[in-house]
Amino acid sequence: MKIYNTLTRQKEEFIPLTPNKVTMYTCGPTVYNYAHIGNLRTYIFMDILRKTLKYNGYKLQNAMNITDVGHLVSDEDEGEDKMIKGAREQQKTPWEIAEFYTNEFMRDIEALNIEKPEIIPKATDHISEMISFVKGLLDKGYAYETSDGIYFDISKFSGYGKLSRLNLEDQIAGARVEVNDEKRHPADFALWKKAPKEHIMQWESPWGMGYPGWHIECSAMSRKYLGDRFDIHTGGVDHIPIHHENEIAQSEALLGHPAVNYWMHGEFMMVNNGKMSKSLGNTYTIADLRDKGFDPLAFRYMCLNAHYRNKLNFTWDVMQASQVSYDRFIEGALKHKEGTAEVSKDVLDSFTADFEDAINDDLNIPKALGIAWSMVRYPGKSKDIYNLLLKTDTIFGLGIKDAEHKSQDQPQLDAGIEQLIEERQQARKEKNWKLADEIRDKLKSMGIELMDTPQGVKWKRN
Ligand code: AMP
Ligand code: ZN
Repeated sequence: MKIYNTLTRQKEEFIPLTPNKVTMYTCGPTVYNYAHIGNLRTYIFMDILRKTLKYNGYKLQNAMNITDVGHLVSDEDEGEDKMIKGAREQQKTPWEIAEFYTNEFMRDIEALNIEKPEIIPKATDHISEMISFVKGLLDKGYAYETSDGIYFDISKFSGYGKLSRLNLEDQIAGARVEVNDEKRHPADFALWKKAPKEHIMQWESPWGMGYPGWHIECSAMSRKYLGDRFDIHTGGVDHIPIHHENEIAQSEALLGHPAVNYWMHGEFMMVNNGKMSKSLGNTYTIADLRDKGFDPLAFRYMCLNAHYRNKLNFTWDVMQASQVSYDRFIEGALKHKEGTAEVSKDVLDSFTADFEDAINDDLNIPKALGIAWSMVRYPGKSKDIYNLLLKTDTIFGLGIKDAEHKSQDQPQLDAGIEQLIEERQQARKEKNWKLADEIRDKLKSMGIELMDTPQGVKWKRN
């Protein structure tokens, strides 16, 4: 299997540290709000990578953290903690916010058929590991104390910039006007911040009350769960220049060797060819997709059509087209289910080989999906093709198997709903408003919304 390593800017043959096993770390969500479709694209990429590794027979040990402290509004140690800002705006405690949005995130990934990583550690459960890490860096002379925290001294780490390939001078030139004149170098970053009394989240440390920097979380948790060396680290491309550069600096400085063998990054999702941002009102969520009647899996299907290292532009038109193609794909796959046509072993083997070549060529999922479409369109109806499609779906995760149940249950379910609507119409005719309202509420609790139109009552699923 070949994968693209951001560190070397090359496709490389994947060789794990231990035969048949893969240790992998994924930068997880900051849980101060709902995940947007861009974040979710990055977790679909993680999921496709996981499933491809499993398809190839590897046993996975994948840790994905939950960031519930320390991620500041700016990645450069400036501004407020996102959790505290979110808590203030929503008039809750940061802990309530963290619990709520972690649960919502889990529901979103489930709706997208994203498998849960084996280990999901929370940053706030690992403060002592982070403190030990920072202590280690101080002891080795890679960090220093200022009046407001402990900082990493990047001039001591000669490899700084090797992932982003930005030289330090460029980084300084690009840095904002310096606000902290106690820092030795403008690009030095906080490992630990001392907390003023009013700061809501704070812990005891050798340097007084405080809270960890965001970058140290991932270094400390990956080390705890995956060891001093592990195979793959994933995240979005925005993490390359600061977050992952800083993780490398911290881990390599402490350990004396690289911790990660392969760095993999998912490209961004754009909206209308621009950035997603709150102020533009285009940070869409899974709920927004559902509100417009789209299936979350049609969104997954849309993501599979772009290579993970290419930008993907979201528009509602593309979403609509993806829903149509997704439905056709599932329908086409199901047509083969009861088929009796014979397909030669040669044909099946060649489909399988093409599919495997594509997925193992740095996750060329768009190509693999094209091959699956050729299977769907194969003349005649064949159970063998259906079985092969199920095999491809262990990676695509488009829910062919579940769709089968849905389509079997659907007519019966729909008949039940029509019946209730009929009864409600009857109740209204008899001016039995109470019963009519009760039926409407019952339908609502089933996720059915009624619409009175000139053509009569129409309904839709929410
Ligand atoms: P966060 O919750 O902000 O820590 O981000 C979670 C993940 O989403 C990270 O891996 C980011 O790199 C990724 N991410 C953020 N914005 C986008 C986007 N527009 N497209 C794809 N991935 C993104
Ligand atoms: Zn991280």
